[in-house]
Amino acid sequence: MTEEARLREQICTLAKSMFDRGLTHGSTGNISARTFDGGLLVSPTGTSFGRLDPARLSRFDAAGRQVGGDAPTKEMPLHSAFYDTRNQTGAVVHLHSCYAVVWSMLDDPDEDDFLPPLTPYAAMQLGRVKLLPFFRPGDPAMGKAVRGLAGKRSAVMLANHGPVVAGKDVEAACNAIEELEATARLALLTRGLGPRLLTEAQIRDVVTSFNVEWEA
Ligand code: ZN
Repeated sequence: MTEEARLREQICTLAKSMFDRGLTHGSTGNISARTFDGGLLVSPTGTSFGRLDPARLSRFDAAGRQVGGDAPTKEMPLHSAFYDTRNQTGAVVHLHSCYAVVWSMLDDPDEDDFLPPLTPYAAMQLGRVKLLPFFRPGDPAMGKAVRGLAGKRSAVMLANHGPVVAGKDVEAACNAIEELEATARLALLTRGLGPRLLTEAQIRDVVTSFNVEWEA
């Protein structure tokens, strides 16, 4: 199996795993990954994470021209915004995941730090998550808003819509977006219970020890 064939399989396997666990539903969610020649593989528009076909992923060359597969997701500008502003990006995942979406609808989250410091794992895998406002589906302003962060954030939450996370590779991006959803779930489960949050010093220690990108 070629490197690219392995990457195609990996994208579809991880997408199906997330779909099977209810992390995104219907034809929501999209995923992209850098290929070894500097191009991109992208999930096609209108497809379900449960049934992605490795052979039909949209294929782009290093110059951004589509050279194969079906038409890409309409949320492509969101993906490009991460690749263009963060050199270290090897994959981008977007879900319509339930708990993160609910958390984005409440007054609780801080727009500069969407997730409360409940466990160290969100900080380690996501840094600080930026909450972006609601955009009409397909609004190019979504991509512009991500570009406006100048590559300083690897994860954003689109209010009343879903999270978008960039990682060094497909596995890292998927693990990180799952951590975002798991932390939003904890935030909702502990809402109003007065949970003991990690202190600023504890977060600082995690950030330093694990060399986390932490935009103040
Ligand atoms: Zn979406």
